[in-house]
Amino acid sequence: MSLNDLAIDVPHAAAGAAAAELRAALGARVHLPGDPGFDGARTPWNLAVAQHPFAVALPATAQDVVDAVRAATLAGLRIAPQSTGHAAGALAGTDLSHTLLLSLRELRGVEVDAQARTARVLGGSLWNDVLESAAPHGLTALHGSAGDVSVVGYSLSGGLSFYARAHGLAVNAVRAVEVVTADGSLVRASADEEPELFWALRGGSGAFGVVVAIEIDLLPVADVFAGMLLWDASRAVEVSHAWAEWTRSAPESATTALRILHLPPLPELPPFLSGRSVVVIDGAIQETDAAASALLEPLRALGPEVDTFGRMPAPALIGVHMDPPEPTPSATRHAMLGELPPAAVDAFVAAAQIPGVFGQELRHLGGAAARRPVGGGAVAAVAGDYLVHSLAMVPVPEAADAAAAAVRAGVAALDAWQIDALALTFIDGPGADRATAFGEASARLRQLKLAYDPANLFAAARPV
Ligand SMILES: Cc1cc2nc3c(=O)[nH]c(=O)nc-3n(C[C@H](O)[C@H](O)[C@H](O)COP(=O)(O)OP(=O)(O)OC[C@H]3O[C@@H](n4cnc5c(N)ncnc54)[C@H](O)[C@@H]3O)c2cc1C
Repeated sequence: MSLNDLAIDVPHAAAGAAAAELRAALGARVHLPGDPGFDGARTPWNLAVAQHPFAVALPATAQDVVDAVRAATLAGLRIAPQSTGHAAGALAGTDLSHTLLLSLRELRGVEVDAQARTARVLGGSLWNDVLESAAPHGLTALHGSAGDVSVVGYSLSGGLSFYARAHGLAVNAVRAVEVVTADGSLVRASADEEPELFWALRGGSGAFGVVVAIEIDLLPVADVFAGMLLWDASRAVEVSHAWAEWTRSAPESATTALRILHLPPLPELPPFLSGRSVVVIDGAIQETDAAASALLEPLRALGPEVDTFGRMPAPALIGVHMDPPEPTPSATRHAMLGELPPAAVDAFVAAAQIPGVFGQELRHLGGAAARRPVGGGAVAAVAGDYLVHSLAMVPVPEAADAAAAAVRAGVAALDAWQIDALALTFIDGPGADRATAFGEASARLRQLKLAYDPANLFAAARPV
């Protein structure tokens, strides 16, 4: 049982008083069931998850967050911080009926210090916000594959980017966190201020408070050699084996992924993709054009139907993985692999044919992503050279069980090569063993949770 499961008890008769407490403190910034804004405010990015909180607060300032935390505490409610709901699947096992969902979606803004190569990012900001502000200074960040994921939710759970093998996890780029803790105070945590809390937040994330801003390091990268290669899925065996072989000697400057995708016949998709199954390699290679092209040669020799690899402005990297631009109902599962021998590649390709699997993905990790830097927090590296990820769509609620079974099978097909590790950001369902992702940090994280949040006020997608 995780600490998240120990819900604070709110007697039914007190519910009206709790609602009044929230309304008095937060006014129009709180949405209660029946309010016109409630349904919109409680709906997460992952539309497959129906969230039923006691109420939703939409703070616009750090002071609003302080007021919300204090009001929820007085009302006897728990608090679940959420920025976008990309990880709503991981929170889905937590009963929210006595919880204030604290949605940070209106607390957005980015200030870049070009000289220091850092950005101060407000709690609900998206990666697109950071890239837009950083690019004019020739800077970028360790963002993931989707521009509408939040910087805080991604970074404080690790964060695997297409720069990961060269620069490590995004969490190691976090310099300071401004957080409202369980006692309602606004605290700044960094290597020099509240170092224990700073250690815990870098992995423990929303289990330790509501983050109103973080400071992150930016990369002096204005453009990058990146893109994708695409073949018909009839080439999946050949291409997957070639990519696996290629990754064995690829330098740390290259971080790539391989996917087999079954795309539905949708008018929104370009005709060359609509209704087709394809195999795609994408990612970034931080080398000169000549060196990157030479490195790609064995993959290009397989004659891809589409080849977009080339030098592009750094913000364009966020588009190469073609993640859905809108909220999407989905179920996913992942595992870490220690190696990817030919038998594992065959198992991966076969698993892509499991009915219901929409996308079967391998990400090449290792390199700096597997190395713990000095001064890192609770999560600072992820073990394993590859991540396998299986994705299914959940078009209607009745499809949820079948989708969950499909992605379980998609990942179980590679059981023989799995290691005892998980990437925290990719945990997307309830019940996954978070202790595996926290590893050696688990015991200290639990101790710090009891010290900083003794009443277990905060409910997190990935509880400690
Ligand atoms: C389409 C898609 C693409 C993705 N691509 C990548 C990728 O390339 N690399 C990768 O590593 N991951 C990736 N992810 C996973 C993603 O990074 C995680 O799910 C991440 O936790 C989402 O953060 P969020 O804040 O947007 O989501 P939310 O569901 O809003 O938040 C997740 C959790 O983060 C915490 N949190 C968020 N904001 C705050 C805050 N302000 N204060 C306190 N706690 C907070 C809370 O505990 C919350 O439960 C992807 C997910 C999707 C759906």
